[in-house]
Amino acid sequence: VKIHHLNCGTMRMPGASLVCHVLLVETERALVLVDTGFGLRDIADPRGRLGGYRHVSRPALDPAETAVRQVRALGYAAEDVRHVLLTHLDSDHAGGLADFPHARVHVTRAEWEAARRPASGVERSRYRAVQWAHDPQIVTHDQGGESWRGFAAAAPLDEVAPGLVLIPLPGHTRGHAAYAVDDGGSWLLHAGDAFYHRSVLDGRGRQPFALTLQEAVVAADRERVRDNHARLAELHGRDDPDLMIVSSHDPSLLDDARRRGSAGS
Ligand SMILES: [Zn+2]
Repeated sequence: VKIHHLNCGTMRMPGASLVCHVLLVETERALVLVDTGFGLRDIADPRGRLGGYRHVSRPALDPAETAVRQVRALGYAAEDVRHVLLTHLDSDHAGGLADFPHARVHVTRAEWEAARRPASGVERSRYRAVQWAHDPQIVTHDQGGESWRGFAAAAPLDEVAPGLVLIPLPGHTRGHAAYAVDDGGSWLLHAGDAFYHRSVLDGRGRQPFALTLQEAVVAADRERVRDNHARLAELHGRDDPDLMIVSSHDPSLLDDARRRGSAGS
């Protein structure tokens, strides 16, 4: 297994420059993406595809940052990506789906239901159904029966590849999930939007106010968001030498992951 750490969408929010940290996992069987960031169709039609939220997130919309362009730059074809694992269906995570029409798209059942039948003002405004209007092959996952480092209901995705685990972490959205990837003896936990800024884990630096506000405004369940923060900080505090935790949007965690990846290979 080799993990590539991609930035599939620089965003320039007030007071915070963000990335969309996407994993490209080379397994023995196929390529697997964890999230997609923004896609080529988002760049072609930002108003229609991303709606008014783009004025808040201010994405760079650079074609070179799309997952599909980066996959090709690595010498692969889009069709080589057979699976996309989504942390959730917000537009900065699912926008690239249409660039991989052959992939099976894995998401929790709760998230797919939230996106198809939004039940609150926040849900109605956040999901952009146009991003999956190309009718991708959706594979929904229920809670699993395993524990992963103390996180319950984990579901190993052996049908995708050994060493990939879906961990339900609702809060940011109704069906948000994290993914753990076994990187040959060490684990990478991609926590998606369960936290934004590394200070949540290690107290280093301070989360920009714009992110704290954004996190509260868009949360499906603020109490669960806080609870997830506490659990992830506790996990980080154990200092397991074989574990790295990243989020979708913290650029310094992306840098760390890239450094660690190149050191290990
Ligand atoms: Zn996000």
